[in-house]
Amino acid sequence: MRFDAAIIGGGAAGNMAAWLLAKKGYRVVVLEKKGSIGKEVCGGLVSHRVLEMSKTEAVLNEIKGAYVYFPDGREICIGGDKTHAYVIDRQKFDFELAERAMAEGAIYKLKFAVKKISDDRIEGKEDIKFDYLIGADGTLSTVAKQFDMGSIEYINAVQGEAKIHADEDFVRVYINKSIAPGFFSWIIPDGEKARIGLGSSEKKLKQKIDNFAKMLNAEIKNVKGGIIPASIRKFFKHNVALIGDAAGQVKATSGGGIYASLLAANIMAENFPDFKKYEDEFMRKFGREIKKTILARKIFLKFDNEDFNYIADYIEKEVEIINRYGDIDYQAKVAKEIVKRHPAIAFYLLKKVIWR
Ligand SMILES: Cc1cc2nc3c(=O)[nH]c(=O)nc-3n(C[C@H](O)[C@H](O)[C@H](O)COP(=O)(O)OP(=O)(O)OC[C@H]3O[C@@H](n4cnc5c(N)ncnc54)[C@H](O)[C@@H]3O)c2cc1C
Repeated sequence: MRFDAAIIGGGAAGNMAAWLLAKKGYRVVVLEKKGSIGKEVCGGLVSHRVLEMSKTEAVLNEIKGAYVYFPDGREICIGGDKTHAYVIDRQKFDFELAERAMAEGAIYKLKFAVKKISDDRIEGKEDIKFDYLIGADGTLSTVAKQFDMGSIEYINAVQGEAKIHADEDFVRVYINKSIAPGFFSWIIPDGEKARIGLGSSEKKLKQKIDNFAKMLNAEIKNVKGGIIPASIRKFFKHNVALIGDAAGQVKATSGGGIYASLLAANIMAENFPDFKKYEDEFMRKFGREIKKTILARKIFLKFDNEDFNYIADYIEKEVEIINRYGDIDYQAKVAKEIVKRHPAIAFYLLKKVIWR
């Protein structure tokens, strides 16, 4: 059968795109290599925008704020005033989107690992012909590789579950090079258990998560690995587009990519099959924000624990500003407000970039 759009990958981006394209009347097929739909390793921390776009019923917990821990032992409490984020059941979330796509007529083929694509044909256990191809196949995208759409930098991550702080409405974030060099570690309560994980620029994370568990005095079970993009690829080439992690549409500072995946699927579907318009509009609405997080991460990588303690001084002073301007999807605004009030930070950062 010939399809208007063949989507590789049935994650957040692929399912959302399938739903929206099928709703517009396009013949859509989704090819997913796993035997079931639903990402296993994800913090599932999302903003209200994700709930609005997805109409999900997979919310498990509401988050009112965060405790941020710095290397010198300081704990800074942010938020607490209202709901700032939500914790979703990620498997249910992905499955809901896929169900909606199927209800609109999208065809799903599971256990279909795409390895080879030639011209307008995907070779696999059956041949699939397409007019347009959408790579929603995650950070290590086969589609991106096949069509030479650029390489990507990524952060290694691990996450498991434990019974600490499980029913609270605050996340905990540890910024400390000795725990999670090159990223941070987290505790995200989902109401019944807590998702505990860390990311790092290093590869071997077993020892790191064991050390974190020891520090928390927690037994972390079901630990699994994942990767988070930290740079972007080309979004399209001829009749091929990338969306979600495959395109690197993730905030490199926090690793959050669900909002960007849904936004990309929306913009791509709205403009389908004009992929140039998709790229332009995405860059205008969120691409610049992603680029700022990539730059911020580059500076972050030059920091040591003393620098984190230095930044903590200002965070402590400006909790009110963070509460007013903080937004988990659009993080640049709050950073700008703090630097505006304390230009010394800008000089400090510049010095770091130049000297290290
Ligand atoms: C540890 C961790 C914690 C995270 N926490 C958060 C968080 O709290 N909030 C947030 O917003 N984001 C978070 N993220 C990021 C978020 O999970 C991703 O940005 C999001 O899943 C991207 O969706 P996607 O559809 O692009 O990719 P995915 O959800 O990864 O889906 C890609 C799909 O493609 C399939 N696939 C891959 N290759 C092929 C192939 N060759 N053939 C067929 N199918 C294929 C895969 O099996 C998979 O189902 C986290 C990520 C990690 C690793």
